[in-house]
Amino acid sequence: MPRAPSSPRASPKAQATAAQAKDIDAQLASADRHCLDHGLKLTSGRKAVLQALLRRGGTAKAYELLADLQSGGASVAPMAVYRSLDFLVAHDIVHKVASNSSFVYCQHDHHRHHEPSFLICERCGSATEWDAEGCHAVVAQALKATGFAVHGIEIQGLCAGCAQTDKLTTPATRGNR
Ligand SMILES: [Zn+2]
Ligand SMILES: [Zn+2]
Repeated sequence: MPRAPSSPRASPKAQATAAQAKDIDAQLASADRHCLDHGLKLTSGRKAVLQALLRRGGTAKAYELLADLQSGGASVAPMAVYRSLDFLVAHDIVHKVASNSSFVYCQHDHHRHHEPSFLICERCGSATEWDAEGCHAVVAQALKATGFAVHGIEIQGLCAGCAQTDKLTTPATRGNR
């Protein structure tokens, strides 16, 4: 795939983008290494999907990634994107968030297998991976009698940004509580 030529006179905004691009390159290299170490292949198609996810800040829905990949005029089959995501999820590079069907790049030490837990914002739809280790044990213990095996915990609520906006835009008109 040809790369866009970089401008010699970078604006501050372009510089920020260059820094982001550097991060993305590092994350792609890390995924590459992880695959090599495990005898897997990060094909160009899988890499393109991962790159699109990272460009969206590490969290996106499958259709958004498809749109991004197609935006350059390339013909990308939806099935190819889903298969690439399946691969990335199966090998702990990306997690799937069950309750909102989004995909999240794993920020953890690449890429030991773990059961991810998420904080999901009902307002903006963001899903943040959360280290639930202590909580996980408590929930597993509480559910022991049911025989239910806990794999991950997904908590719904408002992210800090949305909770703050909520406070500012909801004056105390709902009476006292
Ligand atoms: Zn993770
Ligand atoms: Zn939010």
